[in-house]
Amino acid sequence: MTALRLREVTAGYGKRPAVRDVTATVDGGGWFAIVGPNGAGKSTLLKAIAGLVGFQGSIAVHDREFSALSRRQRARELGYAPQDPLLPTGLTVTDYVLLGRTPHLGTLARESRADLSIVDDTLGRLDLRGLAARRLGTLSGGELQRAVLARVLAQRTRLLLLDEPTTGLDIGHAQALLDRLDRLRREDGTTVVTTLHDLTFAAQYADTLLLLDDGEVVASGPPGEVLTAERLRRHYAADVEILTTATGHPVVAPVRGQSAADPR
Ligand code: ADP
Ligand code: MG
Repeated sequence: MTALRLREVTAGYGKRPAVRDVTATVDGGGWFAIVGPNGAGKSTLLKAIAGLVGFQGSIAVHDREFSALSRRQRARELGYAPQDPLLPTGLTVTDYVLLGRTPHLGTLARESRADLSIVDDTLGRLDLRGLAARRLGTLSGGELQRAVLARVLAQRTRLLLLDEPTTGLDIGHAQALLDRLDRLRREDGTTVVTTLHDLTFAAQYADTLLLLDDGEVVASGPPGEVLTAERLRRHYAADVEILTTATGHPVVAPVRGQSAADPR
């Protein structure tokens, strides 16, 4: 099943759209990573899919044309976590994660026992029960990223859009978060669409990469095909070697420039 279909999506802010003519298909249950250099339009594309930035073209989620859905219907189809969410630092982890249930609440906007149970379950799955009563302002970076993920998971949508979910995390915390996400994806059949600036991580977890440069798709497909040294030189102006892990995944290794080399 197709979770997300983009046809000639153009989106942006002013005269020159930040994202132009993007066509892509995301399979249900897959992990799709949008990559590309700073300013390529990755966040803008995610925001367009989330309905936060205007677009031209067609976006269909689970075979339903997105522009035909109400805000509430959209929030039941997909969950979106921005790169730098505005965090109400005084809120406890439980109350923050409960906000993820908002699209499901009735007109009286009171959470039910079922909502509280979903929140508790989500906290458990992300090892956050011990932090449930802590205020967001007191959490470490890794704990905070887990809380942000918990909030979007509590929304219980089949499609997740996550903008740079590992920003600010060290390699171990980033790996732990992506592993958790991968486990949830496999257990629940959730479709994951992330932007990821770390290409080696993207190649480990995603089955498909979409490489954007200056708002346009310049390559897409399996990580092993998209990530070539030649392409990364052209689009990132980076000098890299593509190595391979024991599991056969590509590793993007930067190569120090000649001019910077120690002359000793
Ligand atoms: P990425 O996530 O790949 O780093 P973005 O999607 O954030 O790139 O930005 C793409 C382009 O759109 C950049 O040139 C950026 O300056 C511009 N841009 C992003 N957000 C806004 C905004 N709110 N208003 C105007 N221009 C924006
Ligand atoms: Mg971005």
